[in-house]
Amino acid sequence: MPTLERLAQYFRYLCEIENRNIDTISSAAIEDATGIHATQFRKDLSYFGEFGRPGIGYDVSELRKRLAKILKVDHEQPVLLVGAGNLGSALVGYAGLPRHNFHIVAAFDNNPNKIGRPLWGLEILDVNRLREVNADLGAQIAIVTVPAGAAQSITNVLIEAGIKVILNFAPTTIRVPQGVFVRNVCFIQELAVLSYYLAPAQD
Ligand code: NAD
Repeated sequence: MPTLERLAQYFRYLCEIENRNIDTISSAAIEDATGIHATQFRKDLSYFGEFGRPGIGYDVSELRKRLAKILKVDHEQPVLLVGAGNLGSALVGYAGLPRHNFHIVAAFDNNPNKIGRPLWGLEILDVNRLREVNADLGAQIAIVTVPAGAAQSITNVLIEAGIKVILNFAPTTIRVPQGVFVRNVCFIQELAVLSYYLAPAQD
């Protein structure tokens, strides 16, 4: 898992510098930008074959493409979203997702006032239809943006519908069987870590 996280970090940085038209990069520059030691970077890549040329560095576009392949983000991935509220709606409208091959192809909710409404080019669907809809869509990735109390039951429905990986924003631990993977995102946890670095408040 830590190697995977570092690969994703290199990938994100390579996308950024490729957009700035930077052609080559050294492992030292990667270390500067990511805080990951150059030796660790070279070691991480060495598991996957030959990369870079001594004295020249790494071809940014080629390395980005090879990492995309390793991370399996080199092809379009359909994604389901459950919970078309404030956060869910913002994610459906986020242009960065399709730019990185993640396409939210269906958004579900259980609120009768929301079902049938348009949302960034989609129509909000009844969560009761999730299994039937995904039989056609074949998505294996889902984003959960429902309240904490609904997250586990939605997870169960997603798994029955063939979902294999879940990005969970609900502030609760969800249990999944072997072979299904969850990543939790929590802004508050991140802010709590950051606030630790603040100077003590003056009384
Ligand atoms: P919201 O109330 O605006 O949206 C929740 C949506 O889920 C609503 O549209 C609701 O109708 C729908 N919903 C509820 N139960 C459902 C069910 N059983 N099936 C389908 N849809 C259902 O809330 P929000 O502000 O968008 O937050 C959504 C979730 O994300 C909450 O759990 C919140 O705590 C969490 N959140 C996490 C972070 C983070 O950093 N991880 C940040 C903001 C919000």
